[in-house]
Amino acid sequence: TPRTLGDFLDERAAAFADRPLVITDARTVTYAETAAWAARLADGLATLGAGPGARVGLLMANYLEFVPLKFAVARTGAAAIPFNYLYREDELLYVLRQSRCTVLVTMTGFAGLDHVGMLDRIAPGWETGQAEALPDLRAVVQFPAEGPAREGVLTVDALAGLGDRHPGAADATGVSPGDLGDILYTSGTTGSPKGVMVTHDAVQRTGYASALTRAFEDGRRVLFSLPCYHMFGYVEGLIAAMIAGGAIVPRTAFSAADHFAAIERHRATEILCVPTMTVALLEHPDRRTRDLSSVFALLSGAAPAPVWLWEKVRDELGITEMTTGYGMTECGGAMTMTLPEDGLERHASTVGRPKLAGVAGLRGRGGDLCHYRTIDPLTGEALPEGEEGELVSSGPTHMLGFWEKTEETAAALRDGWVHSGDLGRVGADGYLQLTGRSKELYKSGGELVMPKEVEDLLTRHPRVSQAYAVGVPDDRWGEVGCAWIVAEPGADLDPAELIALCREQLARFKVPRHVFLITAGELPTTPTGKVQKFRLAARAAERLA
Ligand code: ATP
Ligand code: MG
Repeated sequence: TPRTLGDFLDERAAAFADRPLVITDARTVTYAETAAWAARLADGLATLGAGPGARVGLLMANYLEFVPLKFAVARTGAAAIPFNYLYREDELLYVLRQSRCTVLVTMTGFAGLDHVGMLDRIAPGWETGQAEALPDLRAVVQFPAEGPAREGVLTVDALAGLGDRHPGAADATGVSPGDLGDILYTSGTTGSPKGVMVTHDAVQRTGYASALTRAFEDGRRVLFSLPCYHMFGYVEGLIAAMIAGGAIVPRTAFSAADHFAAIERHRATEILCVPTMTVALLEHPDRRTRDLSSVFALLSGAAPAPVWLWEKVRDELGITEMTTGYGMTECGGAMTMTLPEDGLERHASTVGRPKLAGVAGLRGRGGDLCHYRTIDPLTGEALPEGEEGELVSSGPTHMLGFWEKTEETAAALRDGWVHSGDLGRVGADGYLQLTGRSKELYKSGGELVMPKEVEDLLTRHPRVSQAYAVGVPDDRWGEVGCAWIVAEPGADLDPAELIALCREQLARFKVPRHVFLITAGELPTTPTGKVQKFRLAARAAERLA
């Protein structure tokens, strides 16, 4: 039954009242406690100006308080914007302005991040709601994560107290499940982050599909440090766990030692990881000394994971239920997943099928959630089944559009189909394979180059650790290829040798004209660590100018 996110929490709380919902080292809250807390916070937020048509920013790490705050926003009828708390000052100013944020809840004192201090610098006058740089910002609430609160700024506890003095201030009766519930900014891998508008209903549907696809039994305990401002932590972690009456064990930062300690202490049954985290877990000695007997499932996503990694997860962490997912904010998180019973080869070489497809008892109904096909990335023409092209998809978990970005919305959402910008091919078995991003393709002498083909060749070289191929404008050829190379630690590399290797193995138009060396630390990345190739292309062009 479609319902708003506020009603979703109440309904879950009625079903699972005394079960734990959020478990941290400091505290555990049950479903019923969270619902009561969210109601008080909602009245407080409404008093500050949150309501239908407003936007409440949540700029905080994965603290327990995030959960009641998130649902409190839904109960006011405002849209929630969980911001990336790692934004640097210019990025923060951009998203606060672009979203026209009405009320902001932010933390102080976490990991040396002082957002209240950042506001002083980017938006003087914010305390009185008079910041010229942020004309829509009416109030700021702080969550003192570590250390003292800034005097004069309302804390989250005081916000609940404010709500107690104004019971019933929050009123979302006019809000429907199909209305805007969240604005989630994309990672900014290919340009400025875009605010994806997601409905209340989409979030619940995609979480429900995830729980079924991952074969959740009653009461899972999902541990993750992936941030709740991203679909991965929010939907695959929080919402999916709530579907099955489970709990989340959110961690505020990733470290292998912390994950192992928390699995042991809180008896987590499942972890969410991106592949770099999984590698860190496998390399850490604590995996032998901690009691990891409770954990049996892993969901991996955001980037491909090779077969050896899956094997080690099984053999060295004792995890038997593995799943990988692929998706994007625009589609409501993961749209495809492998099934826990799929072989390791499948997790490594494909990203699965639409969620729900292949789930026993639901066979064939997965298409109701998401349809996809491939098109020619240059002409937009539909391609025959099995041919590589740009993935386009549609379905009820897909976005309403990008917040106040008409041009980008028109480009990404055409006739109800989201154009992913990802390249892939659907195999005869229905499983999807990813092959790159269409924005990163380039044309040299009129021929289309797939950067992944060049990168795969280069990374097979024993002294190459990472390779990024980009196109740079060229008067004669339109574009020429440049490859940025990160060498293996301590290894010496000669660009000429790599160019010679490409000449041997690749067609002429694919051979990079220039090879530049770079250290891993110098790679331009998003705050979440994705390499921004558009910046590498700009840097290469600068060098060649
Ligand atoms: P922006 O849209 O701002 O440039 P982004 O696309 O990186 O940033 P997200 O929505 O966070 O922002 O990430 C979605 C993208 O991540 C997908 O379009 C895809 O390119 C990549 N991705 C997601 N899952 C996988 C996976 N399992 N394997 C490979 N790539 C993946
Ligand atoms: Mg994207």
